Amino acid sequence: MDKPLIIDVAPAKKKAPKHFADLTPEERIAAVKEIGEQGFRAKQLANHYFARHSDDPAEWTDISPAIAEKLASTLFPQLLTLVRTIECDGGATRKDLWKMHDGVLVESVLMRYPDRATLCISSQAGCGMNCPFCATGQAGLTRNLSAGEITAQVFEATKVLESGEMGESTRLSNIVFMGMGEPMANYNAVMRSIRNITSPAPDGFGIGARSVTLSTVGVVTGIEKLIEEKIPVTLAVSLHTPDDELRDTLVPINTRWKVRQVLAAADEYARTTGRRYSIEYALIRDVNDQAWRADLLGRMLKNKNAHVNLIPLNPTPGSKWTASRREDEKAFVAKLESYGVPVTVRDTRGREIEGACGQLAASESGKS
Ligand code: SAH
Repeated sequence: MDKPLIIDVAPAKKKAPKHFADLTPEERIAAVKEIGEQGFRAKQLANHYFARHSDDPAEWTDISPAIAEKLASTLFPQLLTLVRTIECDGGATRKDLWKMHDGVLVESVLMRYPDRATLCISSQAGCGMNCPFCATGQAGLTRNLSAGEITAQVFEATKVLESGEMGESTRLSNIVFMGMGEPMANYNAVMRSIRNITSPAPDGFGIGARSVTLSTVGVVTGIEKLIEEKIPVTLAVSLHTPDDELRDTLVPINTRWKVRQVLAAADEYARTTGRRYSIEYALIRDVNDQAWRADLLGRMLKNKNAHVNLIPLNPTPGSKWTASRREDEKAFVAKLESYGVPVTVRDTRGREIEGACGQLAASESGKS
């Protein structure tokens, strides 16, 4: 049963060139044979790309130079070109702006912490979900990214972290699909990239599924499909308010799947995977931060396997909305805690480089 997602309508404008990372391990063997090389080369290539983080044929010393060149030129087209990097937080946060083969721009943000390194990646260029507080939503959807393009953002981050450019060489430990785009609206490519990320080396980067967070506006059919995949990634649901009336405006897909349906799907996800899900809630002053909303949310989430992640709104240029008052934020937290609901307030890494939530690439495309 492979129900198509009704919202899976992103136009395949200019499809990215086919890349090794678009393929399953079986397809990689077939692709290598198709260009007249022996199947075992696929494992060698996987080892170079996913385990050693090299896409440079000059470094593939277990393959003769002529064959390495041929494999690289057919299976490893350059998907991302770095346009610009901006750093902040004393070099612990960096935002990379990437240009795709067709000129489309996307961003990724790498955040280094004492105990981990987290990469925030994009799954689409733009987004079709139209949430009014999100900068990406304002520009609309340009196109889906391919699995190769999503995976390449991870590949590049692993190289940066290993190079020592961001302090002592380290591994990438966490990935969040919280950059541009709605991952459930590009389901197949996102799933393929998740397999690339989580499969043990050399078939993938070997990052644990629990360390990968997929954030969604609440596409119920997508959550249901994800349950079937049996990959226990962490699910995050961008709820932003517990009542349908306001959510119809804040997260317009709510007119299709109501709060109750979204939470039921998330509960089912938690039940089948054993994984606690997180509720994303951007606190917007006098819009969704009232005590009664905290109370309603607390009652809805009480005794559920859920955690609330409050995000101080990062105002987008020209928006009339702003972050909640400190005292309202505190009261919101206290109210949720009174119901025993675990709650955290997200840090605001990357604000000054417009790398914070919902601002990715917006300012750049405004300039071009
Ligand atoms: N489309 C997915 C993932 C991308 S956005 C989703 O909506 O979940 C990642 C998170 O950032 C979402 O929770 C989104 O609602 C939030 N976000 C977007 N714009 C924001 C802003 N201006 N301030 C705070 N959070 C924002």
